[in-house]
Amino acid sequence: MKKGHLIVFSGPSGVGKGTIRSCSKIKNYEFSISSTTRKPRAGETNGVEYNFLTKKEFENKIKNNEMLEYVEFVGNYYGTEKQVVNNLLNQGKNVFLEIECQGALQVLKQMPEAISIFIMPPSLEELEKRLYKRGTEEESVIKKRLEKAKEEIGYKDHYKYIIVNDNVEKASAKLDEILETLS
Ligand code: 5GP
Repeated sequence: MKKGHLIVFSGPSGVGKGTIRSCSKIKNYEFSISSTTRKPRAGETNGVEYNFLTKKEFENKIKNNEMLEYVEFVGNYYGTEKQVVNNLLNQGKNVFLEIECQGALQVLKQMPEAISIFIMPPSLEELEKRLYKRGTEEESVIKKRLEKAKEEIGYKDHYKYIIVNDNVEKASAKLDEILETLS
């Protein structure tokens, strides 16, 4: 059976990755559920947005070489399990990874054929406004996420496609154009 395509989707925290994906009409992929040691936000459910693990559980997975990639991001671990991705790809399914840049680069090194997409904010000022408006983190965490955002934007040229999110409908239409090319 033909293997599925891997889609690596990144962009700084607060840029609107989740909104773009939910507005996009083409759903020819399975979303890979990441593991994290971050606490669930209100409305998040274990096994839906993330598999929420303890630090010990996550570190055991690292030790047992179960992670395709992982990072420590603003004080928490985030990562993708090898088995989850490989099972889906081997079933011929396209797999969508919504992950930050350092993890994305680890994946692209191992799977350079992946379709990589980077979402850019229209400006850093706009990103800051969105993070404050979202209101899911306290100020010190927002500041760290903004620092990380600047670092992440520096990685954008490692991606095949760059989409600027100045308008959600337009950005999700661009995502659809890319997804449409995948069989
Ligand atoms: P959040 O805490 O806002 O849900 O996620 C913080 C950042 O971690 C986002 O940029 C998100 O895309 C990224 N992220 C989520 N899951 C993973 C993962 O499995 N691996 C990596 N490297 N980053 C992830």
